Amino acid sequence: MSVTEHQLPVHAPMNQFSVSDGELVLGGERLSLLAARVGQTPFYAYDRSLLRARVAELRDVLPKGVKLHYAMKANPMPAVVGFMAGLVDGIDVASAGELKVALDAGANPLEVSFAGPGKRDAELRQAVASRVLINVESFREVVALEAISSELGLPARVAVRVNPDFELKGSGMKMGGGPKQFGVDVEQMPTLLADIGRAGLAFEGFHLFAGSQNLRSESICEAQQKSFELALRLAQDAPAPVRFLNLGGGFGIPYFPGEQRLDLGPIGDNLARLAQRAQAELPEASLVVELGRYLVGEAGVYVARLVDRKISRGQVYLVTDGGLHHHLSASGNFGQVIRKNYPVTIGNKVDSPEKETASVVGPLCTPLDLLADRMTLPVARVGDLVVVYQSGAYGASASPQGFLGHPVCLEVLV
Ligand SMILES: *Cc1c(COP(=O)(O)O)cnc(C)c1O
Repeated sequence: MSVTEHQLPVHAPMNQFSVSDGELVLGGERLSLLAARVGQTPFYAYDRSLLRARVAELRDVLPKGVKLHYAMKANPMPAVVGFMAGLVDGIDVASAGELKVALDAGANPLEVSFAGPGKRDAELRQAVASRVLINVESFREVVALEAISSELGLPARVAVRVNPDFELKGSGMKMGGGPKQFGVDVEQMPTLLADIGRAGLAFEGFHLFAGSQNLRSESICEAQQKSFELALRLAQDAPAPVRFLNLGGGFGIPYFPGEQRLDLGPIGDNLARLAQRAQAELPEASLVVELGRYLVGEAGVYVARLVDRKISRGQVYLVTDGGLHHHLSASGNFGQVIRKNYPVTIGNKVDSPEKETASVVGPLCTPLDLLADRMTLPVARVGDLVVVYQSGAYGASASPQGFLGHPVCLEVLV
């Protein structure tokens, strides 16, 4: 059976950036001029107007009163966090290092929450003193927080991160259900909530985060629904009324051939129903969704320059000055089971009719340093600019920049 080109799965259209004179435009500037302004390749560029548009799109769909948080581990660049802090309702941090960036950026500590397994005592102390909400993930944390609260004369603000008894179906990364290092099992919740009451901590709510990178709105709705029901049950054992109910996120973006953009409509409708029920059943609670990659992922690109063009036994290799040391995810080595290509183009020749099949590789001495495996790309020459789309999340900070001693990349917010 022959497989024709149009039957193969293709990437979702990458039409978030405009094109001028055959070049991608970022932050209102043609890519070649942006590269000149940055002064080096490789670099990441994040487009403010796309960040703003994405938040506006969510605000349109989310019911009023549902809080939108930015999970900054997706992109902790201080300028990005500062920009996002002005757009969203709160910032979620996962370490004391991130907490510092969020507070420096001007985030309101009362709307910052801190999650993660293995919070060290020093981090918990910083969090209590900052008055941020701590998502408790173990019995030990309750004991530590009791001591820290009495030492500082400031009761820790806590929510409980629950490891639910269900999973987020179809998620790229599951972070709840079954045995997990995250949160506390729902079965242990009555004991934990009693401990929190006895310790005199300021209980404020629940945090449920079932998984990441999900493109199926019906799965996300189901997880939100189940999280809400679970929180209603747990609220009966809680030492104080629920003020925050963080339903997680997991909204995905299309990376690979055959994937399509998430349909937000059903999620907005589902949250509207839940928000209405919350008014009656958890009257003091604000619902929260926390999103990382969905807010920033599509607004960013990674840009590297072609330093060589080689042909090996008939296969074209485009060798760039960037690679997996800056962009582990695009190389396929950050959690992917089977390697697939991110959307890639030649950013200064995007609409060139001259095309070829080529692989894009980096300068590292390992075959893992692969940014595109036999893709159809505009024909490229040394000096051209390779662009990896969908690179605004889990890029620079999620990559082993020290590996092999090449220069680090820059990041710009444009
Ligand atoms: C990683 C993480 C997020 C962000 O996930 P995305 O897939 O980037 O949206 C949100 N909440 C928690 C608790 C996380 O660990």
